Amino acid sequence: MVTGAHTLRRDRVMTEHRDGVAATGWPGVVATDESPDAPRIGVLALQGDFREHARMLTELGARVIRVRRPEDLSGIAGLVLPGGESTVMDKLARMSGLVTSLRVAIAAGMPAYGTCAGLILLADRVLDGLTDQQTLGGFDITVRRNAFGSQNESFETDLDIPLLGAPPVHAVFIRAPVVESLGPAVTALARLEDGRVVAVEQGHLLGTSFHPEIMGDYRFHEYFLAKVQKSVAGGHSGVASVGRPAQ
Ligand code: GLN
Repeated sequence: MVTGAHTLRRDRVMTEHRDGVAATGWPGVVATDESPDAPRIGVLALQGDFREHARMLTELGARVIRVRRPEDLSGIAGLVLPGGESTVMDKLARMSGLVTSLRVAIAAGMPAYGTCAGLILLADRVLDGLTDQQTLGGFDITVRRNAFGSQNESFETDLDIPLLGAPPVHAVFIRAPVVESLGPAVTALARLEDGRVVAVEQGHLLGTSFHPEIMGDYRFHEYFLAKVQKSVAGGHSGVASVGRPAQ
């Protein structure tokens, strides 16, 4: 659904982007020489609900690139990692040769937003993962997969998130992780009533255990696009390169 408000926001996103671009690139991926008039946002499209993210980001004015191979990273200024199944995405990312490029770019400061399985992929430490499960890392957090057990695999609740203001976010949890420990650079953005952390931020990284892309609440995606724009204005126009690095 595109409302008038979202149309305005799209205009704002595009204008701000045009005003603040510098042309460097993320290590591990090469800059394109295009002069995009909207932020180029990668959505990891190996598995999961990447279509929902792509639709929302497009409605907000971003140029969405579906990332399936290292070449797709060229020129992206930020990356969204969808919900789905982290163990499957991990295997597919390793098979496609994406892992090294993504690790390098994220470690170098490329903005990234992960929802649910995407948050697991961004976490430095995972509990209840498969024995050979790996992550891209970057977020100094420990997440526990499937933290709500079989009795409560899926549920919805309203979360007060001061960062986003009113109204509360109607959050959908589907076999969701929780953040069990946070490093000193990580801020808890949202907690359940029992205190468990379900949304986090660490500089260029953003993560939610739940799925704004399913409920169509645009506020996290808008916040993420603003983060990307700050990064672009700070001198990063996108991932540079796109040779296939040695794995
Ligand atoms: N349980 C899934 C995993 O471990 C995440 C579920 C989701 O993304 N909705 O990857």
